[in-house]
Amino acid sequence: MFIGHYGPSFAAKAVRQRIPLWVLFLAVQLLDVFWSIFVLLGIEKVRIAPGITAVNPLDLYYMPYTHGLFTAMLWSILAAVAYHAFRKQDGWLSAGFVGAAVYSHWILDFVVHRPDLPLYNDRLKVGLGLWNYPVLASALEVVFLFGGMYLYLRTTKPVARGGSSGFLVLGMVMLAVQAIVFFGPPPSSDRAAAMTALFSYCLFAAIAFWLEQKRTPKALRPGSIPQPAQVSVAKPDASSRALPRPLP
Ligand SMILES: [Zn+2]
Repeated sequence: MFIGHYGPSFAAKAVRQRIPLWVLFLAVQLLDVFWSIFVLLGIEKVRIAPGITAVNPLDLYYMPYTHGLFTAMLWSILAAVAYHAFRKQDGWLSAGFVGAAVYSHWILDFVVHRPDLPLYNDRLKVGLGLWNYPVLASALEVVFLFGGMYLYLRTTKPVARGGSSGFLVLGMVMLAVQAIVFFGPPPSSDRAAAMTALFSYCLFAAIAFWLEQKRTPKALRPGSIPQPAQVSVAKPDASSRALPRPLP
């Protein structure tokens, strides 16, 4: 999965507005960010194998440090702890959201990857292989990305020019990049694949940082919390509110 990973980042932002969107953008792709770096360092391995799945030509034959069931869990916990260290004021709940965002990557990868995600060390590999069904795989990416974005746009309002259209343009650009990844020519090498991925993730996070300044959380809708007039028709006078009732 590629752009669909951003669905959970928008959804997390919608319910936990204090977490910066760009942090959530990096969180949902953190395993792939590390994967790119590890491939460039020669720690994890990938080879270009056109046709290995219907839409993704990468043979991800060795990535136990980033895409293992337990290593992914470890990165998620570390990400939550790191977030809490830098932004204590947001509380552990926000840190938990960041950790969950990191782990959402593994779960969504599990749906689309061929069996190349190791459960333990480099063994017992799993993956449901949705990448072999181009229409379904593309639909899932679109539904996740735009579904998440819808939740975010619904819970925030624009405060500057481009606050709404900017996100829609971003969504369209992501869609175009996804189409090239799925249906364009395969990357020229393993390093090219890693560098393109790393560049894309950093660029999208930077754009999220820029665009999120243009929106602010919506205030609570009038009526979403009980108004004093709705609670009690007769207005109690100040003295009866301030003083406790005398015991009989
Ligand atoms: Zn991945």
